[in-house]
Amino acid sequence: MYNAKQIPPVLLKSAEINRKNGENDFVLLPLFFAEEALEPYIGRKTVEFHYGKHLAGYIDNTNKLKKGSDFDRMKIEEIMLASDGKLFNNAAQVFNHYFQFEALKPAGQGASTPSGELKNRLEKAFGTLEGFQTKFSEAAVGLFGSGYVWLIAGKNGELEIVQTKNAENPMMEGKKPILNLDVWEHAYYLDVQNLRAKYVENFWHIVDWEKINERLARCTPFKPF
Ligand code: MN
Repeated sequence: MYNAKQIPPVLLKSAEINRKNGENDFVLLPLFFAEEALEPYIGRKTVEFHYGKHLAGYIDNTNKLKKGSDFDRMKIEEIMLASDGKLFNNAAQVFNHYFQFEALKPAGQGASTPSGELKNRLEKAFGTLEGFQTKFSEAAVGLFGSGYVWLIAGKNGELEIVQTKNAENPMMEGKKPILNLDVWEHAYYLDVQNLRAKYVENFWHIVDWEKINERLARCTPFKPF
């Protein structure tokens, strides 16, 4: 059952502003960049459908399913952690998609790399940055069916890679996500068809490491929740 103490600090800035003024409905935020901004790594058509159709659909369904219920005024992450069935599936997908899209950066801005505390913690957990990327990529390619791969901060700040199925989110197990990758086919099929490994390779070119660093900072000092 829902227990406010189980809700971790807000890790997703989007969700805080993701409502119409004075109303309970979530809205689709304007995309954080132009639809073609991720090319050649993720194509305009994929972004158009993934953000503009799939995410929009999850938002519409969440609004319909929560209307008039105890969930109606909750934040998206609160709904995700307190609901089950169809409402859970849709609310979790809203969270998971915003979480990924807000951590992508336009390809034209050039690739960045992890730095500072994030770099230190990645090296502590995985030996090297390359070692981290290899393990994360293997987890993404190896996940059977639909789901996500996550980089999460454990209760003492230790970083781990976890896989989740379908709409599931590591926050359900008290873990704090700082990076995710959607490996549902709708995320890559228009671009690379069945070649999920190519999609994962492309992903590394457009990760916004500044954002991941910010999220890690918001997780500290890693108090249990
Ligand atoms: Mn998706």
